[in-house]
Amino acid sequence: MKKGFLNSKKARDALDHVPASPSTGSTSTFSTVGDDSEAPALQDLVIETDESIKQSAIITTIPPRGSQTCQMVTIPAMKDFLLRRLRSSDPKISKVKYAVQDTPDMGKGLFATADIAFGETFLVEKPFIVFPKNIGPAFKVSREGIDATSEAWTTVYLKAGEKVLERVLDRLGEEDRDAFNALCDHSIANPKERPILSRMACNAFNLDLQEPPGVQTWGGEYVGVPRIGARINHSCSGANIVEDFDPETFTFSYAASRDIKAGQQIMRYYVTRTLPVAQRRAALSAQQIICTCSACTNATPKTDKLRLEYQARVNILTKACQTSGPLPTAQAQAWLATTLRMKDEMEKEGLDNDPSFMQVWYSLQILYGRLRDEEKEDMCRRRLEGYMEFPGAIRERKKGHPGSRRT
Ligand SMILES: [Zn+2]
Repeated sequence: MKKGFLNSKKARDALDHVPASPSTGSTSTFSTVGDDSEAPALQDLVIETDESIKQSAIITTIPPRGSQTCQMVTIPAMKDFLLRRLRSSDPKISKVKYAVQDTPDMGKGLFATADIAFGETFLVEKPFIVFPKNIGPAFKVSREGIDATSEAWTTVYLKAGEKVLERVLDRLGEEDRDAFNALCDHSIANPKERPILSRMACNAFNLDLQEPPGVQTWGGEYVGVPRIGARINHSCSGANIVEDFDPETFTFSYAASRDIKAGQQIMRYYVTRTLPVAQRRAALSAQQIICTCSACTNATPKTDKLRLEYQARVNILTKACQTSGPLPTAQAQAWLATTLRMKDEMEKEGLDNDPSFMQVWYSLQILYGRLRDEEKEDMCRRRLEGYMEFPGAIRERKKGHPGSRRT
């Protein structure tokens, strides 16, 4: 999921981040989706235009009923489009393998309560709230007489956004509202003045939603706050999951990108993986996070360089290994040593969480094949098959893009 949410620099920096949570809040209670409870569906609420909001919108419930529903701020054409495509075939998780627990230094966090194998989808959930990413343009907030680059403009559109979100919060069920209010709210200026937006900025993931043909109102750019996923803390070296949002089931899915042992904390990246340590620290400090992972504490110019170069280096290695024609054994052994070194360096930095890491396994599979080490070739093939089980990869295959995956 890409970064970005609100238009201000500070809030922009806060995007795609799910920081440590405060000490309040419930433990994990959400484990199933798609329950067909018979509660009456809420009527859509129309956001009328006024002196600041010049684009009307609706707050609608998606799906209209169920054990987990989402309050989405959108336009009627988008709602109809989403509902037409909505499938209720959410994958069921047979055993809950996670729990929200206190951490020593990060507020609350999500922990594995049983072993979770690489590639296993362990959590599927709907967001609480889905909201347009760019508030100013989405609601065509009036900026009469206001410089669009000024703080005054930021204040105006954030105020408009908070006003809409107050209506959204009114529509959440009591349990959802309490859970949302227990999330952290420290990534935006003046959280007391804009408590809901502050929580959104801290906890929302970006969603790219396809718009109906002929409709280009908001560019499909929304953000969604996940119920449990919002509790997942950041670690550069310890990130062990990938997440995906499927508009057709309106669910977030989370899969293990490493084998996760019972008791381990489940973690993800809040910042761009290619950033050197100084820039990671700066980006995280906007969230009031100090990362003490091994990649940050042991950072060197060499590890910073690796982050900048690993994608290009992996591409070169993969291309070299894919060469047709005979590969002399000595050459294959040399490339194998280089690839294994690369794998080790990337794993230490937590870069095995990057999609390009799949190429490392692919290169290893080819090289072990050339060197006739069938056991290790088979191990690489099984690992590659695991990547194919990531929710994003399954979704891409359904769309007709074999082999592709998205984190
Ligand atoms: Zn770190």
